Amino acid sequence: MSAVFFPESLEACFDLRRQYGDALIMAGGTDLLVAERKTGSGGRPLVCLERIAALRQIAPGTDGGIVIGAAAPLSAVIRHPLVAERYPLLAMAAATVGGPAIRNMATIGGNICTASPAGDCLPPLYLLEARLELSDGENRRRVPVEAFITGPKKTVLSAGELLTAVHLPPPGEFAIRHFEKVGRRNALAVAVASLAALVRLDEGNRVAEARLAWGSVGPCVVRCPEAEARLTGRPLSEASLREAGEAVRRAVRPIDDIRATAEYRRMLSANLLLRLETP
Ligand SMILES: Cc1cc2nc3c(=O)[nH]c(=O)nc-3n(C[C@H](O)[C@H](O)[C@H](O)COP(=O)(O)OP(=O)(O)OC[C@H]3O[C@@H](n4cnc5c(N)ncnc54)[C@H](O)[C@@H]3O)c2cc1C
Repeated sequence: MSAVFFPESLEACFDLRRQYGDALIMAGGTDLLVAERKTGSGGRPLVCLERIAALRQIAPGTDGGIVIGAAAPLSAVIRHPLVAERYPLLAMAAATVGGPAIRNMATIGGNICTASPAGDCLPPLYLLEARLELSDGENRRRVPVEAFITGPKKTVLSAGELLTAVHLPPPGEFAIRHFEKVGRRNALAVAVASLAALVRLDEGNRVAEARLAWGSVGPCVVRCPEAEARLTGRPLSEASLREAGEAVRRAVRPIDDIRATAEYRRMLSANLLLRLETP
């Protein structure tokens, strides 16, 4: 059996990482333990983040935004009044992760670091322009979420680095904040496709700015600037959304897997846009 450590400070955590270079980091363990059961850790030590208070804090940022500790459980993120009020898109997406028991264990940092194409928090984090704080105990850097994830299960985290916090800038004034996930079952289902959308409208109810991101239809979250441009300056009508949908069908790069075919995912990605139609 491998050694399991529960450091109570970030310093102690980095010390352990230096001491045990091959140690695995565990936040909620909901991805890690499933993966380990399949592949086996080969007796590597486990460093658990759950007792490090600094990593669980959620607080206003100095720039008027918010700072979410990487080991904050998703249930705490969803419940936090600042998130609920100002970043409801993130709360909506986090609320679709697994069931309540999973959301109590699973952390926002774990959802990001797993870098799954189906990670439900990722499309909102792209649209909210999240910056991720990485530290190895000596040096700190901030990386935009879209630069952090480089492929399925691939990130720019270097050996010894931890994701310590997620910084969200002040949210814009968006009339439409929408997240929808299509899975094979409602509870405990990994997304077949998901859409996150933030839309700002002008006085004439035309789109002043559209931010759109899809999950589960490419190796990473897919943005589609062409679809965003096609909506800008127009009302959100069935006609404009269908046109934007055509651009989306070309932009997504889905795969066939046990949950759905690539063609179904392509059609779904376009059709999800129709939910944004305004009366
Ligand atoms: C039954 C079930 C249903 C699920 N349903 C969904 C779902 O609907 N949607 C969804 O998105 N996910 C789902 N998941 C996957 C999982 O719950 C989430 O991805 C979760 O957010 C992972 O967080 P965690 O804290 O448990 O991560 P962990 O399992 O602890 O860690 C995941 C990976 O990230 C690394 N890591 C974690 N935190 C850090 C950090 N701070 N710094 C550096 N590396 C770190 C770990 O080393 C590991 O490689 C489900 C899982 C299960 C078991």
